[in-house]
Amino acid sequence: MTATSLAAPFLAGLADDRIRFQRCGACGKAQRLARYACTACGATDLRWEYATGRGTVFAVTEVKRAPTDAFRALVPYRIALIDLDEGARLMAHAQPGLSVGDRVSLSVYRLGEQALIRAAPA
Ligand SMILES: [Zn+2]
Repeated sequence: MTATSLAAPFLAGLADDRIRFQRCGACGKAQRLARYACTACGATDLRWEYATGRGTVFAVTEVKRAPTDAFRALVPYRIALIDLDEGARLMAHAQPGLSVGDRVSLSVYRLGEQALIRAAPA
């Protein structure tokens, strides 16, 4: 299985404007993106669930150098790590003014062909 096919359910969720995460069928731990096994107990019984889109800012930083040409028009922009209410942590583009501990609402937006997650104050 390639990394791309492993992440296919996550990417399909974004294409449908929804955020998905994995939950372990053995211990119940939620984890971000796509892995072969649970990071807590090692079980491979992972299921995909939809997030409510609500969470809390864990960390935030500002990006001043675009990683690709597609992002050049956005710089400077803010990236945040968000702890979903369901327990998984993921990365999102953050609206200005968001700080650690703020409650946020996540949504999916498009930058060209790319689907990105945006965090806004809840
Ligand atoms: Zn587990």
